[in-house]
Amino acid sequence: MHEMSLMTEIIKIVSHDAQSHGFSKVDKIDVIVGDLSNVLPDALELAFFHFQRQGLGILDENTQLNLVREEAKAKCQTCLFEFVPDYRIALCPKCGLANCLLVSGETFRVESYEGSDEL
Ligand SMILES: [Zn+2]
Repeated sequence: MHEMSLMTEIIKIVSHDAQSHGFSKVDKIDVIVGDLSNVLPDALELAFFHFQRQGLGILDENTQLNLVREEAKAKCQTCLFEFVPDYRIALCPKCGLANCLLVSGETFRVESYEGSDEL
């Protein structure tokens, strides 16, 4: 389950950045998870709750994880047809060629976070 190590990285990066801005806690973390990013949102949430209980970084029991889903989209470079692919490598449903580029769906990143310094 690589979501555990991904979540560790996210919490470390966010905690470090928050502390460098003078925040003593993190209220909310927004993470974008693409449908084709190979990250399972459920597993990511489980990992988050696990580390939240441990108090990793500057998380506390009120920190929220907000997962934003990004739908997969591909565009055929031959006929310019746009569609929702099931996999990273897709055949164009219109012309049948494999000349398609993923437009979205591979994203996995921290979009933003909210920190505060109230105790
Ligand atoms: Zn096509």
